[in-house]
Amino acid sequence: MKGILFVLSGPSGTGKGTVCKELLKRDSVSLSVSATTRERREGEVEGETYYYVSKDEFDRMIANGEMLEYAEYSGNRYGTPKKAVETLLNDGRDVLLEIEPQGALQVKKLLPEAVLVFLIPPTMAELKNRLVTRGREGGEEIKKRLAAARWELLQAEKYNTQIVNDDLDKCVSDIIEFFNTKRDERRKIEELINETV
Ligand code: 5GP
Repeated sequence: MKGILFVLSGPSGTGKGTVCKELLKRDSVSLSVSATTRERREGEVEGETYYYVSKDEFDRMIANGEMLEYAEYSGNRYGTPKKAVETLLNDGRDVLLEIEPQGALQVKKLLPEAVLVFLIPPTMAELKNRLVTRGREGGEEIKKRLAAARWELLQAEKYNTQIVNDDLDKCVSDIIEFFNTKRDERRKIEELINETV
């Protein structure tokens, strides 16, 4: 049976990265490593956090049809290399994409069977607080990300489910429970299809 493509998305500062790390510890899903044109930050690892590529390389990957989806976000480009995702899915492994909403909606259009989870911040004040306290972005960048968050939140109802990230442990448990429901549904359908009558 082919694996399931899970997409975790939502505004920057909602805790996608932290939730993702916990999911990888507590669930069997495999993470897809994205390509980006943004600068590598301290502590980030090439090939683990991202593949860091030039703008020309990114364009070449798009032109060669190597990207499953891609988007421009806050002045940089981010995309999911297609090949690795396809290989894992064909091997029966479930794959997780941690991406922003423009990309998530491209995936939904292209692969309607993908399962999309929208991560919601408890409040806008908390979202801002998280962006400020994590200290990765400057003031201008935070403003840009908060402006993007309003459009992004409007996309939430297009997802398969919405989960509030208030308590990390509960949020991750809720996502795993949702993943397992989807896995059971797929298994059931597969059994019906393969049933000899
Ligand atoms: P950051 O610069 O904070 O690492 O990422 C900025 C945003 O880009 C985050 O919302 C992150 O989820 C998103 N992102 C990371 N990789 C991808 C990708 O491959 N495609 C898309 N569409 N967004 C991505």
